[in-house]
Amino acid sequence: MPLAALPEVSLPDLVAGDAAASLRVLDEQAVSGCTACHLHGGRTQTVFGSGDAHAALMIVGDGPSAEDDHTGQPFMGPAGELLDKQLKAMGLERSGVYLANVVKCRPPDSRAPKADEAAACGAYLKRQIQIVGPRVILTVGGPAAKRVLGVTQNITQVRGQWHRYDGPGGPIPVMPTFDPAYLTRAYTTENRRRVWDDLQAVLARLADEG
Ligand code: SF4
Repeated sequence: MPLAALPEVSLPDLVAGDAAASLRVLDEQAVSGCTACHLHGGRTQTVFGSGDAHAALMIVGDGPSAEDDHTGQPFMGPAGELLDKQLKAMGLERSGVYLANVVKCRPPDSRAPKADEAAACGAYLKRQIQIVGPRVILTVGGPAAKRVLGVTQNITQVRGQWHRYDGPGGPIPVMPTFDPAYLTRAYTTENRRRVWDDLQAVLARLADEG
């Protein structure tokens, strides 16, 4: 028997002309107390997102790590340190991009978010994208690519090619690449080259779109 759909999350109104305030309201009035899926039961706290509310580049990952859950900030720990290095190599800083995850509560044992969890939390991510209005989205990891793009293929089949986000605030070009958490476990020359190629494509697109 198919699982019953999880309840829809509630979204507060945008704060007209103030992206930072809109993000704050979304976090404080909706996400931080959300119990729409069972992931809420295992969290220390929600991990909403961070960075520039007007960023040209938004980076979307799968879900909070243990370090994220502990600190309340996305992309912490070894994977976050690698992401910071990647951003630095691109001439960017964490504070100059916007970082978010598909789900805002840590899945147990660092597993990928399940489809129903990603669907339940997806409304928050869509609203974040709408508020920030990035010129380019970089998804890191398979679940993030699937949720943002609505595709079913594995990350190896979609990475390295431009796709398009058509949700609220779209269309926005999307480049899927490997998750830094995966890269820390499979830090091969080939994987590093693939990711660097993807990041170079993002930089070129940002320059074109600017
Ligand atoms: Fe709510 Fe998202 Fe947390 Fe599920 S993962 S409880 S939908 S905030």
